[in-house]
This record gives sequence, C-alpha cells and structure tokens, in this order.
Amino acid sequence: MSDILVVGSVAYDSIATPLGEVDRTLGGSANYFSLVASLFSPVKVVGVVGEDYEDRDLELLRTRSVDLEGLKRVVGKTFHWQGRYEADMNEAITLKTELNVFKDFNPTLPKTYSNSKYVFLANIDPELQIKVLDQVSEPRLVGADTMNFWIDSKRPQLLELLKRIDVLLINEAEARQLTGQWNIVQSVKTLTEWGPKAVVVKRGEYGFVLFSEGRHFILPAFPVAEVKDPTGAGDSFAGGFFGYLSRVDKGLSWPDLKQACMNGCLLASFTVEDFGLSALRGLKWPAIEGRRAQYEEVIR
Ligand code: AMP
Repeated sequence: MSDILVVGSVAYDSIATPLGEVDRTLGGSANYFSLVASLFSPVKVVGVVGEDYEDRDLELLRTRSVDLEGLKRVVGKTFHWQGRYEADMNEAITLKTELNVFKDFNPTLPKTYSNSKYVFLANIDPELQIKVLDQVSEPRLVGADTMNFWIDSKRPQLLELLKRIDVLLINEAEARQLTGQWNIVQSVKTLTEWGPKAVVVKRGEYGFVLFSEGRHFILPAFPVAEVKDPTGAGDSFAGGFFGYLSRVDKGLSWPDLKQACMNGCLLASFTVEDFGLSALRGLKWPAIEGRRAQYEEVIR
C-alpha cells in the first residue's frame, strides 16, 4: 500500500437534476476523490478553501484520516460550481464556475508530501496540476482528470501536462472535445499518442473504455435504478481506480488496470444514488463488497 497525493477542487456546489436540487452542498473533485480513495490507502490533499468553508466539512475528511496539511484556508470565498442536468444525466450543464480562492492559489507542498509515490491531479487548472507535479521528487504513478472548462481555457497547458502523466481519466464528451475525433476508439488512441500510457474514457451509465498499449477493455456501469445526482461520479471513479492501484502497488499491469476500472465503476455507482457527497459519507466496505458481488454477476 502507498499513500496518494491529490490536488483538485474543494468546493461548494449548487446542483439541479430532474430529481431535485441542492444549494451550496459540499463538493469538488478533491473531496469526492479523497472520500473514496481513502477507503483503499492513506490520502494527502493539496487545495485551498475560503473563510466560508465550514469546519464540519474539514472534519468529514479527518474522519477518514485524510492528511489536510496541504489544504490551505485563505481570505476569500471557496470555489463555487453551479450546474444542472436534464433527462440525459450523462452530461452536466455548467451555469456558473466561480474559482474564487483558486484564482490566485500557488501551492507549496508540505515537506512530507514531496516524496509521494502516487499522485492524482484531479480536475482543476492544469497550471496548478503542473505546479504540484513539479514539487514531487520521484512519483511512481501519476494520474490526471480534466473537464471542458479547462480544455477551452488552458489547452496548451493541458497538452503539456499529458506528456508527464501515466494515466488520463476523462469523460466521453471531453475526449471528443480535446482530440476533435468523434469515434472513441480513435480518440483514446490519439490521447495515448500525446503522452499517457493508459487512457480511461468514462461514459456515465454506459461504463467506460480503457485503452493501453494497443488493447481495449470495456464494461457497462453498475445498473443503478434511480440516479439522483451524477455530480462527482467521475471523481469517485478516479478515487476507486487510483485507490485500487495504490493499494496493490504494482504499477500498470493490464490485469490491475482492469481491476482498477472495475473498482472505479463500483464506487461511482454509490455516489450517484444521492445528492452531492451524501452517499459517500457513511459508505463502508461491507456495502461495497455486497455490491461487488452483484456487479460481478452483471459483467460475468
Ligand atoms: P464530476 O466527477 O466530473 O461530476 O465532478 C464534479 C465536481 O467537479 C463538482 O463537485 C465541482 O465542484 C467540480 N468542478 C466543476 N467545475 C470545475 C472546474 N472547472 N475545475 C475544477 N473542478 C470543477
């Protein structure tokens, strides 16, 4: 087992889906990722919050023994994202992205973070992802995620980042946007040519496509009867995926990559059953193992 360092957004989200809405609920890619990945391995967070960030929201990560030395509190307001989903819950429509304290964030890693072996650059400004990666001395495995907002606004920096990572996790629409290729087989191939050894394209309820060294692996998602809010599904997938790889700690073998994807799908299936982080708050291994058995039945 190896520790995981994650940098990503720590946010308040306002979300509307066909099944309801919530205002300023706890969210952000680093929060979803950490809650899930900490079920597998110890996690260290790099990020920033404002004066409005509630102590009880920090406590949530502390209850999972997440190391918060790299999470700074500064003057200003916490990152706020507002989005909604229509009947097709596979795509979020962003209404507002208020970067707030993330706009001027210049991360300096605590000493204990710089020798991290597993580094996950969750969805946030690619310039920040690069700054964090620059401060880690010899990472064994580097993964990254991104989204349309950064593909639009920081494409050159994102392409630079791709050269330095081992695994890219990205959703289907974003893979198409980044490569300009509609066909997903061609799109993942292009992405691996730009740097990463493995690419995982997340396809919402349709699961994912994994591509590495000329091989593909495809699985459907666990069938959830009522998807209340898909926010954070991608980050939870990443938490299960990276959590599994860090726990096994054997690099990027094809069987481990496949197992990592399966764990990603499994964990994401809990997140979408409730709004925000609610379904992850009390999630424990017996419930995960119970669902794993059902999922294995589905994909056998
Ligand atoms: P996903 O797993 O893709 O559904 O990620 C959802 C999370 O991404 C939400 O909790 C948002 O706070 C966060 N988010 C939305 N837009 C951005 C952005 N431009 N940069 C970083 N995080 C974001």
